[in-house]
Amino acid sequence: LVEPQGAMGSVLYLDVPNDLTRDMIEQRLRIPVTEAIVDNAVDITSFKIVVNPELELGAALDETPEVATPYVQHEVISAPTDAMRPVAGQRVESRLNPKYVFDNFVIGGSNRFAHAAALAVAEAPAKAYNPLFIYGDSGLGKTHLLHAIGHYAENMYPGIRVRYVSSEEFTNDFINSIANNQGQAFQARYREVDVLLIDDIQFLQGKESTQEAFFHTFNTLHDHDKQVVITSDVAPKHLTGFEARMVSRFEWGLITDVTAPELETRIAILRKKAQAERMDAPDDILEQIAERVTTNIRELEGTLIRVTAFASLNRLPVTMDLAQTVLKDLFAQSSEVVIGPSDIITHTAGYFQLTEEDLYGSSRSQTVALARQIAMYLCREMTSLSLPKIGQLFGNRDHTTVMYANKKIEKLMKEKRSVYTQVTELTARIKQAPAR
Ligand code: ADP
Ligand code: MG
Repeated sequence: LVEPQGAMGSVLYLDVPNDLTRDMIEQRLRIPVTEAIVDNAVDITSFKIVVNPELELGAALDETPEVATPYVQHEVISAPTDAMRPVAGQRVESRLNPKYVFDNFVIGGSNRFAHAAALAVAEAPAKAYNPLFIYGDSGLGKTHLLHAIGHYAENMYPGIRVRYVSSEEFTNDFINSIANNQGQAFQARYREVDVLLIDDIQFLQGKESTQEAFFHTFNTLHDHDKQVVITSDVAPKHLTGFEARMVSRFEWGLITDVTAPELETRIAILRKKAQAERMDAPDDILEQIAERVTTNIRELEGTLIRVTAFASLNRLPVTMDLAQTVLKDLFAQSSEVVIGPSDIITHTAGYFQLTEEDLYGSSRSQTVALARQIAMYLCREMTSLSLPKIGQLFGNRDHTTVMYANKKIEKLMKEKRSVYTQVTELTARIKQAPAR
């Protein structure tokens, strides 16, 4: 007997009759409950459990329940912690990911200019470069810089209205606003801000009406001296499926790129990451990893996690031998072929003896949920798809669900050998036979 008692801000309060129920939800049903909440309630990002003995069947029958037992409030879980969703009708929420700040952004030749431009914009929104347009391949720090600008501006100018949005969210938001006749709320959300950070603009290609909506948003903001920062996987002039007037606006301000980091930068990034996550990894091993993973910082970090997870599972120190074993497995397969989400989904379903529909579907059984989360994790690791896109693939789930799956699997890989093995074996299978 679990009763939602209501929400305060983004926290949903659930009443349960006793500790037993609370423990059960905590220990066994965390994921399905979190998923169910995150999937179904737009504004909710976490929940708290309150033990309310009045819900006990016996107590409910009792006319005069003892008030002796005070409510025991217990924080269960912060669902996706860095998931911040819009709360309809309320003031603008920045939706910034706390992990991405300037402090932990490693500067090197490959990103020095982009970093300087981002910092300049954060220090003086709409005064330095407007718009600022940052482009480059996947996994090179564009999203990180975007969030860092937001955090910095918020700290520097308390009360400033910052909003981060991916282009897919912008698109979905626009489409929903039309469907629900809420054009005005939509406009307010994006025009009543001081800094608009829009990620992966290439997703708007060919989407004429959304582009139109963005065009107006952009003009309104720019006319009112509000800062716009845009990222993309290609330079403005190489964006296809965009109106010329749109592209020319992107070129008004400053255009800068991020490129693949040099070896020294890659090592520095790994050091910083290892430090931040308190991983025990000697320098020579970080160098080994940095030498092998050259073109994508997300993959670079993922590889470090694999190595340290393997060590932690086997209760071994991170030695060169161990690193080489893990790296050998990781790099045994050719990385030439492009892997798509359908490869991952097919292989994952096969591996867990499930159907692909199981993975897209809504089953909350433990096996299915775990397989689904692993598949989401692998999509994030092995493809360049964004979180919202991955969410869409998996039965239109929210991007926060994907984010949560990612963290969950990263954590499980360190704690459970079975999960580590599953992820590693699956990766190998997918790489061996991507195209079906
Ligand atoms: P993009 O948006 O270009 O695909 P992200 O910003 O998502 O790339 O970066 C991928 C991962 O690499 C993130 O975890 C990010 O924190 C990390 N990262 C990227 N560049 C740097 C950097 N210069 N210093 C530290 N971490 C970085
Ligand atoms: Mg990005």
